[in-house]
Amino acid sequence: MYMLNLFISFLEVQINQYIPEKIQKRLIDRRIVKEIHSAYKNVPFYRKRYDRAGVDIKSIKGISDLKKLPFLTKQDIMDNFPKDIVSEKVDIDKCHYSATTGSTGKALPFVFNDKTMSYYINTTMRVYTMIGYKPWYKAVYVKYTNIDSPNFGPFFRFVHVPSTISVLEQIKLIGKEKPDLLVGYASIILEIANTVTPEDLKNIKPKMISVNSELSTKDQRDFISSVFKCPVYDEYSTEETWMIAAECRHHKYHLFADNVWVEFLDKQGNEIKNGDSGEIVLTTTHSPAMPFIRYRIGDRGRAFKGVCSCGNKLPMMKSFDGRSDDSFILPDGKYVSSLKLLNTFTKYIKTYLNLINEFKIVQEQKDLIVIHLVKGSKYKEESFKQLVSDLYNILGKSVTIKTKYHDFIAKSESVKRKAIESLVTQGNSA
Ligand SMILES: [Zn+2]
Repeated sequence: MYMLNLFISFLEVQINQYIPEKIQKRLIDRRIVKEIHSAYKNVPFYRKRYDRAGVDIKSIKGISDLKKLPFLTKQDIMDNFPKDIVSEKVDIDKCHYSATTGSTGKALPFVFNDKTMSYYINTTMRVYTMIGYKPWYKAVYVKYTNIDSPNFGPFFRFVHVPSTISVLEQIKLIGKEKPDLLVGYASIILEIANTVTPEDLKNIKPKMISVNSELSTKDQRDFISSVFKCPVYDEYSTEETWMIAAECRHHKYHLFADNVWVEFLDKQGNEIKNGDSGEIVLTTTHSPAMPFIRYRIGDRGRAFKGVCSCGNKLPMMKSFDGRSDDSFILPDGKYVSSLKLLNTFTKYIKTYLNLINEFKIVQEQKDLIVIHLVKGSKYKEESFKQLVSDLYNILGKSVTIKTKYHDFIAKSESVKRKAIESLVTQGNSA
């Protein structure tokens, strides 16, 4: 059944990108309405909230009616998971469980069913087919966690190289695999590009590179491209909804509107003008077990209304303006991206449920890192010690890591509280 779902949604996702605009819009309307109505019917949280707000659910007939609905925040999810935010119709034990630290530092859990999972896998696949990937290509994915890829023999071969090993070991493994497609976080691929030797490049000759998960600049991607002598493409995704947008071969961002609808809003919650930067608000269309409706993810981007000459009919986005996380510069001059630290926490939050309730990492002085921690209900000293030791592996011995325990972590004024903050880097840039 899973394989059949996988195959059907593969075709669906591939075809979706060529459906003419007008029909495309109608299909998006229909999917959105289906998701919202099902959320109202089956998810207590939405039912209660919409009733309280006086929403006439029958009046929701498409994306133009979304503005009638209240937003969903990360706090809403944390307060209502799983009882009120997961559909009454699903057996949560049969769902795929995942969690993210987002950028707020609190564990944000969520679930999705098998069908959603196969749809998500295929939207990921479309990120690669959009840039010329062929099923018989070999791909190497450099990532901190293992990747689940179904076995199709010589097709769709994805090899995992752990980003937790040293960059030299990563390069050695990539050279052994000789990938056609190289995938990874922008900062990780950048580190590899900075380290590879001409000798390494004799074995590493990808046809294309796809960078993901964090904001990368055009200059960084151009640099990677100049090292590997192949095009480098960006994508924008989140753990909660998977693929949101990806660059096509013309380096234009296409929104994956068949998976998630994106609103770009100003401070007052109105749709922003073409090309201006706005808050990204997401609505899923394939996640009935746990729908995200008008979800404030905390990212910013620029809308763009136009047509791309690549032939892809999905709507477009001008740019992704990113998440506002900090990076650490250490006493030995080493630069550590906040994503690396965040990933370490995410790994533990995923492995040990309720180990951590909330955290914040602050570089108070160049050589002093303080973890502010709110223990989870199943906190274990041993597991947390292991986490700290992982952090030492990343940061090196030139710093001291201290832990301060709290009952809660106070919120700051900004919409998005940073989970990782460097008072040193900020001081330097000010
Ligand atoms: Zn395009």
